[in-house]
Amino acid sequence: MFKIEHLSKKFHQHIVLNNISVEFQKGEVIALIGASGAGKSTFLRSLNYLEKADSGTLSLENQLFNFETISKQEILELRKQTAMVFQHFNLFERKTVLENVKEALKIVQKISDKEATEIALHEIEKVGLTDRVNYYPKHLSGGQKQRVGIARALAVKPKLLLLDEPTSALDPELVGEVQATIQQATREGQTMLLVSHEMNFVRRVATKVLFLEKGKLIESGSTDDVFNRPLNPRTREFLSMKE
Ligand code: ATP
Ligand code: MG
Repeated sequence: MFKIEHLSKKFHQHIVLNNISVEFQKGEVIALIGASGAGKSTFLRSLNYLEKADSGTLSLENQLFNFETISKQEILELRKQTAMVFQHFNLFERKTVLENVKEALKIVQKISDKEATEIALHEIEKVGLTDRVNYYPKHLSGGQKQRVGIARALAVKPKLLLLDEPTSALDPELVGEVQATIQQATREGQTMLLVSHEMNFVRRVATKVLFLEKGKLIESGSTDDVFNRPLNPRTREFLSMKE
């Protein structure tokens, strides 16, 4: 069982996350949708402690993190268990594909260079980039860069993968290959929390949908319910604008 409870955050008296609680199971794909400025990125970043929430807890099966009282040691563990894929890839430009994927492994897990190489090559193969292992990011397409970002996040075997608009910076013809990579990870049972504006993709991969408005979770339910029988008029309006 995965649980987020009472997550709240203000930026200078402005409430950005308003007491959010969610529960889901291992292997679920949770899609977070909502208008620009609703707090989606802040929500994901808080779960990974890139932002410090004012209050709230995250339980990942048997591990509990309290954002108010979290220690440095716990932050390292939290980051390993909630690896993140960013909209703008955030790769190390001076490192090759292989080094980018290995870097995360070596920082997070105290394993030998040989073992890190093996794991990294396996993840790179899974995202279809074996022939690019020694390339630098500047010689990759956007879709290839994002697949490296996904390989890097998956290499640490996170309990929960966080993806913040992973395809929104891509040219339209490259969106499909990244979506296919994400879909592959869902088939392998990877639990994930995904922010996306691509409603067709959300419909295809998500088990549950959360609709966030001005920091409040105003609707959550199965993908079928939220798309076909939304309860809140704001959700209905948002989805009709996306069609
Ligand atoms: P988008 O769809 O445009 O990515 P979002 O739902 O991800 O939007 P957030 O980036 O989480 O929205 O921002 C939520 C609110 O918090 C916005 O009003 C934003 O201006 C504010 N905000 C975000 N980061 C900061 C910050 N570091 N300092 C102050 N305010 C911030
Ligand atoms: Mg955002």
